[in-house]
Amino acid sequence: MKAAIHPNYHEIRVHCACGNAFVTRSTHKGDISVEICAACHPFFTGKQKLMDTAGRVERFRRKYAKSDAAKAEAAKVEAAKAEPAKK
Ligand SMILES: [Zn+2]
Repeated sequence: MKAAIHPNYHEIRVHCACGNAFVTRSTHKGDISVEICAACHPFFTGKQKLMDTAGRVERFRRKYAKSDAAKAEAAKVEAAKAEPAKK
C-alpha cells in the first residue's frame, strides 16, 4: 500500500433503533445509528411492519381514488377509440 493516500478504514459500531448492533468496517468517523437493519427490516423478517402514522396511507388513497378512477375511465375511452382504427 502506498503511504498517505488511503482513507482511514477502521472498525465502527452500527446501532439500530430495534436494539441490534454490529461491528463493521468503514471510513466513516465514529459510530452509525440507523432506523432499520437486517434484523428488523420486513424484507428479512417476513413480517408486515406498519410504518403508517396517523392514517397517512389512508388519506393518500382517498386523495387519489378519484383521479385513479378518472384515469381508468379515460383509458377505456382511448382503448375504444383505438380499436376500430386497428382494423
Ligand atoms: Zn434493526
